[in-house]
Amino acid sequence: MENIKPKRDKFNLKLLYVEDEETIREQLVFLLQRRVSDLVVATNGKEGLDKFKDYRPDIVVTDIRMPFMDGLEMSKNIREIDKDVVIIITTAHSETEYFLNAIDIGVDKFLIKPIRKQNLDESLAKFAKDIEIKKEFQSQQLKIQTLLNFIDDIIIVTDGKTITDSNYKFLNFFGYNTLSEFLKDYSCICDRFVEDSEYLQKDINGKNWLEFVVENQSQTHKVKLYDNGNQQDKIFIIKAVKLPIENSKEYIVSFIDITNIELESKNYQAMASTDHLTKIYNRYKFNKALNVEIERAKELEQDLCLIIFDIDYFKKINDTYGHQIGDKVLVSLTELVSKNIRQNDLFARWGGEEFMLIMPSCDEEHAKILAEKLRKLIETNDFEKVGQVTCSFGVILYNGKESIDDLIKKADIALYKAKQNGRNRVEVF
Ligand code: GH3
Ligand code: MG
Ligand code: MG
Repeated sequence: MENIKPKRDKFNLKLLYVEDEETIREQLVFLLQRRVSDLVVATNGKEGLDKFKDYRPDIVVTDIRMPFMDGLEMSKNIREIDKDVVIIITTAHSETEYFLNAIDIGVDKFLIKPIRKQNLDESLAKFAKDIEIKKEFQSQQLKIQTLLNFIDDIIIVTDGKTITDSNYKFLNFFGYNTLSEFLKDYSCICDRFVEDSEYLQKDINGKNWLEFVVENQSQTHKVKLYDNGNQQDKIFIIKAVKLPIENSKEYIVSFIDITNIELESKNYQAMASTDHLTKIYNRYKFNKALNVEIERAKELEQDLCLIIFDIDYFKKINDTYGHQIGDKVLVSLTELVSKNIRQNDLFARWGGEEFMLIMPSCDEEHAKILAEKLRKLIETNDFEKVGQVTCSFGVILYNGKESIDDLIKKADIALYKAKQNGRNRVEVF
């Protein structure tokens, strides 16, 4: 095909031209070939519709009266497939009766035959511009959506009450195909927050969750969401940024999955707090817990007791049966004690064969009773090869003001007294 004008002068358009009369068709094809980058031609409405489906042009230019299917019937069919495609009808002056019908179908423009080059150019220029803007907008939308979907975090656009946009990860996580399906079941993502006082809730002191996050940006906000697919709670960090659009109350909110990090950190915490032989709390955790309990006892003006106990003549057990059997005694003894204390009591290995019991909201009398009960339980327990094992106990009631060191010193004094007075007994400081 001969190109008179350079290619860059052509409109970047895919155009379908439908005309049954050969002479008219050839004239306009001659013009169109120089004006649009991509031209498809059909000779009747039926062929036009087929070619529309195959090529999906940006613009359809069509005659009205044609065999097999007329231009209006074809346009009606095209409109059902694509409500946005530009449809231009070429008409003779004698065909004005079709106008109303054409308007109903949503035809964009009429060009009166014979078509003048200038009219055609003006129309093409206008529509080319519209189509270019539309395509640019669509490609921007696609870019943003692809970007959001590419990100592995849950991302939504929300005012804290409803959701106006979301990415695949969001739909995937909650098991929905579309956002509108989700919105039929819930209005807000906060309807899916798992109730747990350690994590962000739908309302915090009467404040909406998003307001709270936005007003406390320097804090880390964690939330729990139930993962139906994996049937487990997942933990997320929430970040929110306001959309920079005037009068908009919407935020882009991301939910970053930190479940694994959180579990690991809990594991490390547990490891750091546990005695590796007996699996009860170690001295580090005991010190931390005693601090917390002392503060709580002061604040609530409640009693707090401490019991220290130590295995009698443990060195002899080791010397007689070996260190491994000694270890077994430590394990059996902690299991026995663990089963016989209250849930709130905190049991820790203080040293080699010395143990501590922190007893919140417990008076001296009851602490003594428990110590006595444990002493008897141990005394009457069968420690297999070793047989009988006994312990000495020191009990102390926290006086509401002494330091932790003084409290422990006094407990130790009571224990020493129990040893002095013959072992296998309880002494109160
Ligand atoms: P007392 O009645 O005065 O408490 O006498 P005791 O022999 O129990 O006291 P002592 O402090 O002389 O000895 C404690 C022993 O506990 C010495 C040490 O080898 C042993 N021991 C400390 N930690 C462990 C442990 O983890 N495993 C075993 N098997 N023995 C331990
Ligand atoms: Mg001992
Ligand atoms: Mg000892």
